Amino acid sequence: MDYINGKTEKLGLIGKPVSHSMSPKIQNQFCAHFGFNGVYCGFESDFSILKNTVESFKMLNFKGFNITYPFKEEIIKYLDEIDETSRILNAVNTVKIVNGKLFGYNTDVYGFEMLLEHNKIDVSGKTVGILGTGGAARAVAIALFNRNAASIKFFTRNKNKSFKLGEEKIDSIIEFLHYDQYDSVQNQLFAVINATPLGMGDMKEHSPINSKEFSGLEAAIDLIYNPPKTVFLQNAGKTGVKGINGFQMLFFQGLKSFEIWTGIDTTEYGIILRKNTLFEGSYEI
Ligand code: NAP
Repeated sequence: MDYINGKTEKLGLIGKPVSHSMSPKIQNQFCAHFGFNGVYCGFESDFSILKNTVESFKMLNFKGFNITYPFKEEIIKYLDEIDETSRILNAVNTVKIVNGKLFGYNTDVYGFEMLLEHNKIDVSGKTVGILGTGGAARAVAIALFNRNAASIKFFTRNKNKSFKLGEEKIDSIIEFLHYDQYDSVQNQLFAVINATPLGMGDMKEHSPINSKEFSGLEAAIDLIYNPPKTVFLQNAGKTGVKGINGFQMLFFQGLKSFEIWTGIDTTEYGIILRKNTLFEGSYEI
């Protein structure tokens, strides 16, 4: 941090809460590694003051910011433009400020694709299950589509929540099932992804599927990274199924955000880290 001076560029994270977030640690490490004179801090906001928070960032010449739970959709109305992925997902997690204009991006899809790549998980032609139907689940679905999955089955507590992503090709491979139907399609599944909050915080002791429901899978991925080994991943391990937590997704979505703000090509850093064993079973960097 000894590089910080009057010219230091400002970056931030807006969310509620933000105190638990790993992003300040990760982004400040990127600044140091790439020799970028910038600093990244967390800022807690609220729906009632989100507009003012964003205006303040603009007035204070922030270079950009990440936006997390629960504002990924709400932020869109304050932006000048959003990219194609954000439009399909109706969610933005990265904002770049250029000459007072706000440009929105979604890097969660990239983060999940990099997690697949780093772990050599090839979903092409495969059927993949996603547990949950929220914003992260939708980002995962687009990543799976980009990686040529043949079929995506969303599992939900309430089938009335089924939706279309609005892109014909993606929607044609998506199906919504109730958890009751899991057992009847289990033998078709190549991998299952937990995109629910079951396994963290107050729901730390829970998993959306039981230990028998991992049998036959090639991989089980939990988007949760804290705790690093959720009940879901413990059960996968007991069944001999490869388990991966959400740290790499977080890391790579952040790396892409950093690239968007600074224009620095981060590919090489990604490769160095992909070869590193740092990630295995850990969310520490
Ligand atoms: P969200 O929008 O709130 O959606 C979560 C989904 O989980 C809901 O749509 C719901 O689907 C299901 N769900 C919620 N409570 C549940 C419960 N008690 N039992 C069973 N299912 C429940 O959240 P999100 O933003 O998509 O995030 C989902 C998870 O991904 C969180 O754990 C988050 O921390 C993680 N995440 C990780 C990363 C990363 O970089 N690693 C990035 C984004 C999110 P149904 O109502 O259809 O059942």
